[in-house]
Amino acid sequence: MPLRFNSCPHCDQRIVFKIEKDDIDTSQYPAPVYVIHKIDSCGKLSTFYVDSLLRVSYTELEKKPGGIKILEAK
Ligand SMILES: [Zn+2]
Repeated sequence: MPLRFNSCPHCDQRIVFKIEKDDIDTSQYPAPVYVIHKIDSCGKLSTFYVDSLLRVSYTELEKKPGGIKILEAK
């Protein structure tokens, strides 16, 4: 289960989350997955797009269609 280090597009703080293939719809890449930044000062959800190796390609502030899971990031 890969750990991914990135930054929250809402607050720009460093975040870390775990992701695996079951968390995405693998029928097309980049695949969206929702990430919620679980800290009191943020708590916001964004969409992260990942490639077939589960590497983050880009992020969107909004909840975009196509995701199947919400991952919790700290
Ligand atoms: Zn945040």
